Amino acid sequence: MKYPKIIVFCFVLMSFLSAAQTKVYQSEKEKIHDLVHTKLNVDFNFGNKTMNGEAWITAKPHFYSINFITLDAKAMLIHQVSMNSIPLKYTYDDGLKLIINLPKTYKRDEEFTIYIKYTAQPEKVYQKGSVSITSAKGLYFINADGSEKNKPTQIWTQGETEASSCWFPTIDAPNQKTSQEIYITVPDKFVTLSNGALISKTKKGKNRTDYWKFDQKHAPYLFFMGIGEYEIIKDSYQNIPINYYVEKEFAPYAKDIFGLTPEMMGFFSDKLGVAYPWNSYSQIVGRDYVSGAMENTTAVMHGEQAYQKPGQLIDENIQENTIAHELFHHWFGDLVTAESWSNLTLNESFANYSEYLWREYKYGKVNAEMHFYENIDAYLKGQNQDKNLVRYTYEDKEDMFDLVSYNKGGAILHMLRTYVGDEAFFLGLKQYLNTYKYQVAEVHQLRLIFENLTGKDLNWFFNQWYFGAGHPNIEISYDYNTLRKTVTVNINQLQTDAFKFPFAIDIFEGTKRTRHRVFVEGKDASFTFPYTKQPNLIQVNADGSLICEINENKVLSDFIFQLKHADNYAHRREAFLEVAKRQEDKDAFNAVVEALDDTSYKIRILALQQIDLINKFSKKDVIQKIMNIANTDVKTLVQAEAINTLGKLTDPELKPIFEKGLQSKSYSVLGKALVSLYYVDKPAAIAKSKQLPDEVRKILATPLTRIFIEENDESELPFVAKSVLSGMYLTGDDSSKVLFQKAFKQISETNNSEAIQNLVDDMIEKGNQFKGFNFDKVVINLMRDMIKEQQKANKPNRERNIEIIKTGMARLL
Ligand SMILES: [Zn+2]
Repeated sequence: MKYPKIIVFCFVLMSFLSAAQTKVYQSEKEKIHDLVHTKLNVDFNFGNKTMNGEAWITAKPHFYSINFITLDAKAMLIHQVSMNSIPLKYTYDDGLKLIINLPKTYKRDEEFTIYIKYTAQPEKVYQKGSVSITSAKGLYFINADGSEKNKPTQIWTQGETEASSCWFPTIDAPNQKTSQEIYITVPDKFVTLSNGALISKTKKGKNRTDYWKFDQKHAPYLFFMGIGEYEIIKDSYQNIPINYYVEKEFAPYAKDIFGLTPEMMGFFSDKLGVAYPWNSYSQIVGRDYVSGAMENTTAVMHGEQAYQKPGQLIDENIQENTIAHELFHHWFGDLVTAESWSNLTLNESFANYSEYLWREYKYGKVNAEMHFYENIDAYLKGQNQDKNLVRYTYEDKEDMFDLVSYNKGGAILHMLRTYVGDEAFFLGLKQYLNTYKYQVAEVHQLRLIFENLTGKDLNWFFNQWYFGAGHPNIEISYDYNTLRKTVTVNINQLQTDAFKFPFAIDIFEGTKRTRHRVFVEGKDASFTFPYTKQPNLIQVNADGSLICEINENKVLSDFIFQLKHADNYAHRREAFLEVAKRQEDKDAFNAVVEALDDTSYKIRILALQQIDLINKFSKKDVIQKIMNIANTDVKTLVQAEAINTLGKLTDPELKPIFEKGLQSKSYSVLGKALVSLYYVDKPAAIAKSKQLPDEVRKILATPLTRIFIEENDESELPFVAKSVLSGMYLTGDDSSKVLFQKAFKQISETNNSEAIQNLVDDMIEKGNQFKGFNFDKVVINLMRDMIKEQQKANKPNRERNIEIIKTGMARLL
């Protein structure tokens, strides 16, 4: 699973809310029965958002003989429970557990099938889900009554963590595996998606029944149904059909968005030495999805952020990492499943690391390093550093879906790979998959695979990284002995408990780089290396693989050298930020200019953002260089940033560059060109802004808002209003957040009722969608502020506007 962006904001709220609870040991769920097969027959009541279901559950005692079975079934109406048409006695007092008396005592491996007729009532389920605290309903009806204009009617399910039992009775635990068949009856205009293969479609009047069959076994949380008016775009990898379910508007771009899937499938199959284990692969985009994406076996669900137009995709496919992540789960998570949520790392850390693997293969080392850096940076800035990767005492299973299980876990796999070597790492993964396929695993089983394979004891590694928390906080110092021509690197760990780790140290003699690999055993360690020429720089953690914080004293000349020569992106980035602070120094300024050519496009962007063109060293040729970048950089995101940099000069002579940018296919270039043009030719930029087609205006909301807010253009406030909430909370960098806060203030004071209405409509929608993250409360507070501003501004439409806000508030309270 992948989180939506709002999580970054909401992690804070969530950890605050759960702070007071006590911790208990969270065991693997006891296996009293094993699920064998699940057959379902379902249709829907769109009016009251319920589902009529029939289930045939085949199970057997796991070991001990037993005469009853307990199934998870949340908030259902149970109409009948029987075996071979003979009714069975059951209790269902709490609306959570269906306890069924069997007609006899069943022995180990003695299978039986129970029939249950029921109604699923997802709107009546209130449990804490990994995607939403208050409303993990399992089954979601989107615009069920068709009353929301511009939104299609859809149904989709979200099983993880334990919400599949909101729509069918099952043993809702990750250590169960079952094959499945589902008969789904829907109005004929809809298509359906479920796990496995669509075997048949049968028309019945205005309805149609689709029969989906999945013969391999997987965990109940991976069951999926998706229903709606979709175009199905076909693709394939070898003999495996790959389908993309998208709404009509995006059908022409489905392959631009998802088209790397076959190549990813081939790459992962080859890299793991285990062929893609299932017989189909579909991806569907759902409206109002409560998470980022979900790895339902052969039926992956993506949120609306996957929908991108060519003008966005040319800049960056923001869903590409997620596409890789969910696909990789089809080995790690779906084929071999974490036996309990405590062991979630066996699913999520691998899926996270697949993003690195894919980028390394497809775009090279530097690109992968940028991704790695951002992952680790998010973990280091996060709040869960005291949490173990494997956590048997979590407060709530939903807390497991955090920056430790994902980001840190992915980086730990990279450390393991660096330590055991590529051949052992990928062979180990292959053995792990082959040993535990269609089964579940816990982390010790992964450790034992690697220990057997490499002959190395790995307890130290797993104890500190999997069963422990934190990371080394290291102080580095150097002692030179110029007589003997040696340098001693002193490594001092500042945190309480010492870590053991392999450590890469680069010594630069001129531009000659020598890499030394050492092993740090204790809190204080020293390593002495010979040199022939006084070293220019010593770079510790040279390969960037160790998760750590490093403190050392470096001077400007060190950073300039590091920026030019360090091997790893993170080190060049670190150096750049230091050098950029000192551009009054000529060498520093020149190094920033040189960074405009860095192999990492993110450093090129940083250099464009931070270069000081007011600087006395800045010459016409630097501006000329930036003009060239605006026209020719291989990344359109860099071109856009170059235009933005030139825009800040507000030089009318640069106007032709901005006008050229307006012709670009890239929306980022177009957006920056518009804003830059605005500062040298306002009428031309405003005219162009108003001419753009609506769909482009929507995507360019940020640059356009910049112009309209600056202009104080009341007539455009209804347009601006639609993006304010996303701009403030869901996307973008700090500078656009400030912009949208300003926009929010302007709308709060406006007389323009259409703008007020648009903002309130968006607040109701997002408040409800992210209620689980308490976003409704955030929105209600914003509404209160709006009312105050309206009262203060005292404009003609005041009463009407306050009424609009209050009506909206009532719909959220
Ligand atoms: Zn995931």
